[in-house]
Amino acid sequence: MDHHKLAAAKLWLVSPAPSATSDGPRDLPYLSHALYALIPVVDDKVKKLTCDEWWRIYINEAWFEAATVPEIGAELAHVTWHLLADHTDRARDQDVDRSTASAWGTAADVTVSHTLTPDRLKPPPLPTAAALHLPDGRAAEEYFALLSRLPAPALDGETDSGEAALGPNDGCGSGADGLHRSNEHGPDTDVGAVSKQEATEIRRKVAIEYEGYARGRGNVSGDAMRWVNRTLKPEVPWEPLLAAAVRRAVGWAAGCGDYTYTKPSRRSSSLPGVVLPGQHRPVPRVSIIVDTSRSVDDNLLARALGEVDGALLALGVAGAQMTVYAVDAAVHTAQKVRRARDAKLVGAGGTDMRLGFRGVEAERPRPDVVICFTDGDTPWPSSPPPGAAVIVAILGRRGFTLPPSPKWATRVECWVDDQWARA
Ligand SMILES: [Zn+2]
Repeated sequence: MDHHKLAAAKLWLVSPAPSATSDGPRDLPYLSHALYALIPVVDDKVKKLTCDEWWRIYINEAWFEAATVPEIGAELAHVTWHLLADHTDRARDQDVDRSTASAWGTAADVTVSHTLTPDRLKPPPLPTAAALHLPDGRAAEEYFALLSRLPAPALDGETDSGEAALGPNDGCGSGADGLHRSNEHGPDTDVGAVSKQEATEIRRKVAIEYEGYARGRGNVSGDAMRWVNRTLKPEVPWEPLLAAAVRRAVGWAAGCGDYTYTKPSRRSSSLPGVVLPGQHRPVPRVSIIVDTSRSVDDNLLARALGEVDGALLALGVAGAQMTVYAVDAAVHTAQKVRRARDAKLVGAGGTDMRLGFRGVEAERPRPDVVICFTDGDTPWPSSPPPGAAVIVAILGRRGFTLPPSPKWATRVECWVDDQWARA
């Protein structure tokens, strides 16, 4: 294969354009990290060019010799975006199989063509949302949901056997849908492979450069920007983090209390085989401060309280009474409840969580664990309530910078997603 021609196609993609001619270079320097990681494999079983999940590109030599440098460049950009967008793992997350591969492939191609169109790079056969009567600017998963409701067209060479591997010309290769093709190499061959870890690193580098590039332009695609955000700020679900913080705080509090399981309590006789703590304090005491100012999202607050209830229940703390303070610019209520989400939450004024903390400090006996739910737009006390492990759950919207919280508290950021914050 003519490697000079392949190099020329990569250079055509990344080089600055001296003038805006229709087949001049495309000035996409951010793609270089990805383009130079591609591993070319000559394979005359594919029609043009496909990719596998190890960043190998399978190239039909006859097509390659006949194609122009811009045509090769456009196909390279096409498969590179499949790899950058991690369509392999995203297809696996959607349980894409042989029967749905075609719908997923189309969905992924629509997003790729959306990304390539502003740079005049879309290879002509790639479908667009408009041509398929689909809404514009959605994620591959959303297109897949829409397309997989339609009857699936038969794949090349599909027979009644559902088990056979997909062929070399079924879609764009495993790099686009995670399904192995009969012509593709496995992970361990001497052809070379880009590992998952290396791929993650390449995506990060490209995303950082793409972000800078996109800032200077108006015509970037929404899907590409979503990809940048996902790549640079991987979404860690907050629910397990909040539950883990509660478990740690309760565990810490239990460790501080002088619980002894060696001295049987007087109650243990009624529960044969169960050793109860020999102390008066059966479980750590929990107090909860809830910011009821108007700026707090009620649904998110309910989810966060539910998460805390779940964690406490799992630790056997629920059932014990906890105190819930409803606070905005004043302490409205201090209620004893069995579950945090049972508390009636009133208030809609300004925000001063210091008042809630003052209430907690006045409690006797003192609480061991204090959890404060707030949007964070509040003054804080200068020190934590004595003897308490404090968790601050900051409630906000994804994509926004949330206000700081005191160093003496464990911070957990809980967000709601909304359509416009994600875009
Ligand atoms: Zn494709």
